[in-house]
Amino acid sequence: MNNIYNLTIEDLENYFLSIGEKKFKALQLYSWLYEKKVNSFDLMSDVKKAVIERLKTDFSIEHLKLVKVERDTEVNKYLFELYDGSFVESVLMRHDYGTSICVSSQVGCNMGCRFCESGRLKKVRDLNAYEMVLQILAVEEDIKEKITHVVIMGIGEPFDNYLNVTNFIKIINHPKGLAIGSRHITVSTSGIVPKILEFADFPYQVNLAVSLHAPNDKIRDMIMPINKAYKIKDIMDALKVYYKKTNRRITFEYIMLDGINDSDECAIELCKLLKGLNCYVNLIPYNETNNIQYKRSKNDRILKFYDIIKKNSVGVTIRREFGSNISAACGQLRSEKEEL
Ligand code: SAH
Ligand code: SF4
Repeated sequence: MNNIYNLTIEDLENYFLSIGEKKFKALQLYSWLYEKKVNSFDLMSDVKKAVIERLKTDFSIEHLKLVKVERDTEVNKYLFELYDGSFVESVLMRHDYGTSICVSSQVGCNMGCRFCESGRLKKVRDLNAYEMVLQILAVEEDIKEKITHVVIMGIGEPFDNYLNVTNFIKIINHPKGLAIGSRHITVSTSGIVPKILEFADFPYQVNLAVSLHAPNDKIRDMIMPINKAYKIKDIMDALKVYYKKTNRRITFEYIMLDGINDSDECAIELCKLLKGLNCYVNLIPYNETNNIQYKRSKNDRILKFYDIIKKNSVGVTIRREFGSNISAACGQLRSEKEEL
């Protein structure tokens, strides 16, 4: 049965029209789901009994099963069990500017990046929009606070699940949905070129981050199999189109891997590649995992790399590290039950 949290406002309007009700009922329902946050149709006191009965036969209102929460000072990690027995994780981070959640978009990931724990499990399936929406509702319920920022950077490649991810964005961005401002939503992709182009026409001012991680195809081929399908030049060309259409600054994520992509030459090559593009680089100190042999670049290497980029007038930041104590940092999330 379709879950009610899967519906965009348009879907819900069409549904009400199809059962002979007025369109505006959709807003009323959104308000129950996302403002008053009730978890039963019966609690929707201003909805007609007949409509409630109809909703009950047409939709499930079931939430995700929260199996485990790990808490650290600024980070919580949540493990959810889905209807089919699959598992995904979400991470909550507290910042001075608000609370952000890192949402998973798939069970496993097919991109197979060599450095990533989340990708060691092949994709089992895409998450439905409601399974992403409900990650947020569950975390908000746990912390009794509103989440202000969403990054789609958990397990999975969001652009390999484009329709569900864009529906998810529509639902959480809607003023009567979770009302998370589009500028507070970031999608991160490993570089699926046709979807970057499609995203350029997605009419929401959402941030785009691209996991580049290498300044040339030789290194990128080694660490990211997706680079066999879409070369760096293809990505850059697509991003130029994206920028022309959206005028939005692009973020490049760059993991610092010891001896792989962290030399001075790499930094210089990266600056040449990005010259003229409105973007900034987010350097990510690699989070080591037990199963993968890559090591994190030394701190002084990261700082030198940072300096070179800065001197070349490309915007750059070093990502603050979060959550490695509880394996909640980037690339450490998993879809496997052995977590339990
Ligand atoms: N699949 C998407 C989004 C999820 S991964 C993507 O690849 O962009 C989110 C970010 O974490 C990506 O930039 C990814 O490359 C990075 N990442 C993966 N493994 C990591 C690790 N072990 N340490 C630090 N960052 C990692
Ligand atoms: Fe998938 Fe992103 Fe991990 Fe690559 S880095 S395997 S695309 S989750």
